[in-house]
Amino acid sequence: MWKIRKNVLQLILEASKDAYPDEFGAFLRAKHNIIYEIVMLPGTLSGDRSVLFQLFMKPIDFTIVGSVHSHPSGYPIPSGADLNMFAKTGDIHIIVAYPFTVESWKAYNRDGEEIEVKVI
Ligand SMILES: [Zn+2]
Repeated sequence: MWKIRKNVLQLILEASKDAYPDEFGAFLRAKHNIIYEIVMLPGTLSGDRSVLFQLFMKPIDFTIVGSVHSHPSGYPIPSGADLNMFAKTGDIHIIVAYPFTVESWKAYNRDGEEIEVKVI
């Protein structure tokens, strides 16, 4: 079972608000299935089209377990491009949707199936 630290979730929600109306994107770093840090890539805050591209360019880093990105449109449902990226970039992927509250996010596995993540 995946867990995420509350302060990391807050950081993700704040960063998504800051980036709005553009997408925010980053990688997730975890230890013992607890997500404790986000990893920013240069350029990922600069526009709604660049986020996924940057995620594909991820460095090889085995502490990175997956990705997070925002959907300014308001629906935390993965797109076809998202599913393609999920399959390539790790085991857990979070989508946070507008208005970026603790209720407006969902997590998926690499197959795009919704999974439960406990906030701790
Ligand atoms: Zn997406």
